[in-house]
Amino acid sequence: MRIDFVTIFPNMFAPLLAEGVIARGVKQGLLDIRVWDLRDYASDRHRSTDDEAYGGGPGMVMLGEPVFRCVEAIGDGHLVMTSPQGRRFDQRVAKELGDKDHVVFLCGRYEGFDHRVHEELQPDEISIGDFVVSGGELPAMLMADAIGRLIPGVVGNTGSVEEDSFFRGLLDYPHYTRPEELRGRRVPDILLSGHHENIRKWRKEQALRATLEKRPDLLETAELHGNLDDEAREILRRLGKF
Ligand code: SAH
Repeated sequence: MRIDFVTIFPNMFAPLLAEGVIARGVKQGLLDIRVWDLRDYASDRHRSTDDEAYGGGPGMVMLGEPVFRCVEAIGDGHLVMTSPQGRRFDQRVAKELGDKDHVVFLCGRYEGFDHRVHEELQPDEISIGDFVVSGGELPAMLMADAIGRLIPGVVGNTGSVEEDSFFRGLLDYPHYTRPEELRGRRVPDILLSGHHENIRKWRKEQALRATLEKRPDLLETAELHGNLDDEAREILRRLGKF
């Protein structure tokens, strides 16, 4: 899969490419990540990428022309504009974007892009939540991480991705590691029993419990999408739900 970032701060992407799961995906040839410096596509010798707003006001606005030129240079690809006004990013959207061959993220700054960028390119506007950060770089990297780890092979153990929160519409079960006793708190006996079937059932119940306690809304959606099997429904009945 290929992921491109269009930005005026290309250096911000160095850490993403230096270490971690995404960097490994790149080294393994599973991810092709390219960072485009919007200034290289500016039309003037000052390499400007923003200007004052028509109608006045305090904030600068990102120029349209460098974006058009850069996107033309990139060519094909599903165009995503990072924006607090977009549809909300979640695991479902991560999966949807992960199924594409090529995604291009436009990273805004200041007040965002000249509105004609929206009109001309009609990008898929996506928000990471109902708050405003100062640039699209962190949102784009965050989305790329969530997307990239769904590509088979990027996370060493595919099973661990499938058990993560939200993958099946539920939260994850609790995890424990050594030592068996930590500040007087013991690891649940069942996890030390070596009985795989009991462990599987315990984890499933814990995942359902966590979801019921912390995010009951997810259970409604999981039920709606047919993500709850008979065993899950039986456990939930026992916990007083359904
Ligand atoms: N004036 C704009 C906010 C601009 S913030 C508005 O109120 O809609 C500057 C840039 O940061 C945006 O262009 C976008 O690229 C990024 N950004 C800020 N908050 C974001 C969010 N919640 N999700 C995704 N991108 C965001």
